[in-house]
Amino acid sequence: MESLLQISNIKKMYYSSGVITKALNDISLEVRKKDFLAIMGPSGCGKSTLLNIMGLLDKPNEGNIIFLGQQLSKLNEKNKAILRKNHIGFIFQNFNLIDELTIFENIELPLIYLKINKLERRKTVNDLMERFKISHKANFFPKQLSGGQQQKVAIARALASKPQALLADEPTGNLDSKNREDIMQLLWELNQEDLSIVMVTHSLADADYASHIIHLLDGQIVGKQSN
Ligand code: ADP
Ligand code: MG
Repeated sequence: MESLLQISNIKKMYYSSGVITKALNDISLEVRKKDFLAIMGPSGCGKSTLLNIMGLLDKPNEGNIIFLGQQLSKLNEKNKAILRKNHIGFIFQNFNLIDELTIFENIELPLIYLKINKLERRKTVNDLMERFKISHKANFFPKQLSGGQQQKVAIARALASKPQALLADEPTGNLDSKNREDIMQLLWELNQEDLSIVMVTHSLADADYASHIIHLLDGQIVGKQSN
């Protein structure tokens, strides 16, 4: 299968008030198109740091990243941002929706940044809301929705740009078990439709939906399995 992302010998250090934290210590891994990768490990082991680096949101101190055949170190910030906006969607534990915007406007926002025209934006947003059964909430605000519905809005927003990959940081962390299964079922379906997914999770039940699992400890990969 074709490679989506290849990272080699990634190291990430944080320096704060004279203390160095080694968040990632020599991580190498590959995500191929259509993979569903789960990243597991205890709190503080570097999962979010790794996900942010894989999503081109953050830069490692050392190591090499190849995304869709392009060597990241050779791209300037602007071109990296273009790559990210076009090919990667993100969802988070706290949904990160904009409270002042309606559901429709939240999903539409990335398309405005991508300078998509209004007619096309409306069609894309309406299609996504229909697919995720949230059309009746179009003019509501995020705080008026349940957690599960808010995460569906976040997924719709992440998919609006038709990315190749969805990166998810503990996407079910704030959901009750019913909503959590709904969201995992949805991610599984999207992966069956060829969306690549990288998901950080604490839950073995969630990781069960993935095709591959890596276990992190103290910034290093200590285990790999395939489902
Ligand atoms: P996880 O997502 O597995 O809980 P993180 O990737 O958030 O772990 O953090 C890994 C380590 O790096 C932790 O020790 C954390 O305290 C530290 N860390 C994360 N972000 C920062 C930051 N911005 N400044 C300083 N230390 C950080
Ligand atoms: Mg984290």
